[in-house]
Amino acid sequence: MLNTALHKPICPKCESSLKKITLSNQAFCPHCYTCFLEYFSQSMKIGEAISYNPKQISDAIKNEKYELANSLSKDLKIPKQEHPYLFTRIEFLRNLDSYKFLNSENDKLKPAILSELNSRNPEVREIKDLSNNTVLTSEGTYIKVLNEHHINFGYIGTSNNTQELEDARLKNQHRDIQNNFTYHEKLGFLGPDPSHLGEAFKLQFGIALPHLYMDNQIQRISQACSDLGFTLKPMQIKKNSPLIYTLENKSSSNTTLKETITAAIQLGYAVKKAETHAQLKALESDHSYKLFASSYWSLGSLPSLTSEEYFSYIEDMICACLFNYLDKHKLQELTQLFQSQLHSILLLNDEQSDCDTSKVMNKDFEYFLNTLRS
Ligand SMILES: [Zn+2]
Repeated sequence: MLNTALHKPICPKCESSLKKITLSNQAFCPHCYTCFLEYFSQSMKIGEAISYNPKQISDAIKNEKYELANSLSKDLKIPKQEHPYLFTRIEFLRNLDSYKFLNSENDKLKPAILSELNSRNPEVREIKDLSNNTVLTSEGTYIKVLNEHHINFGYIGTSNNTQELEDARLKNQHRDIQNNFTYHEKLGFLGPDPSHLGEAFKLQFGIALPHLYMDNQIQRISQACSDLGFTLKPMQIKKNSPLIYTLENKSSSNTTLKETITAAIQLGYAVKKAETHAQLKALESDHSYKLFASSYWSLGSLPSLTSEEYFSYIEDMICACLFNYLDKHKLQELTQLFQSQLHSILLLNDEQSDCDTSKVMNKDFEYFLNTLRS
């Protein structure tokens, strides 16, 4: 006899069995969480109640209890402090209450979800074609739809302190209060991935580690970061010799945004210290000089570039400049160039599709070369 009992109980809304949920380590609809709350609470080790409840804040505002609303959101504020990173990126992961979560089985839901998102967010109306699902909104911010979550609200910043992350958080809090995204009092914002509930965010911090890379220490550093809850990976996954890396939080379910940022900043200073040690060690050999020199000279010999190659050279040259292998006076121009391409580099990396191999505009290539050679 087939053992059908194994596949019970099931979520009454989406008919996924607990077995399917545990094996795939994902939820299939918001109701899966209420149905199997005990399983999710235990597997995520959720202790204290989460601090951010947009419904409470929204109710307080509706009832004109502004002091209460203020005190509810005060604890969430990210304190302003400096950080050691080249750039920061934050993404809030949100899902509609009335639809199943996205997975490979339910692609046909996408048009209906898109039209629902359209009616709530004017910016989403710019997305007509599902193969290009990202729209840049205002300075540094973007919206991505139907990519693992129904909608992701993102921000990429390049200042050296956390103020812009706080601004992005606050802007998103207003949006959360207006929208009816699926939310659970105990688990927070719900989505398919049980490790990204709570305030439901992904954070990325960019850091240049050329000497750790050349000293073959990335794996060791990456393990140390992983032990502390962060994944270290190349900023450009496909780049041959990755020099800039991103640190990303592995979970948002049992922490807060504020805590994660504080932990990431501490970790960033420690990693930077290791990079400085590796740089000192590199003085004894000429490996790093050779790598930068070969990148610098090969760049000039190319007749044209694909965007992938262009981004790769920008990464090499900004590192060469940051670590004094190039004239320091070019730093400002190169930084501007790097920052102007940052959205494209990071968003291109997100798409798991094939890389855009279209040619870089001649004038951009020339400007890049002139900046380096002038
Ligand atoms: Zn379900």
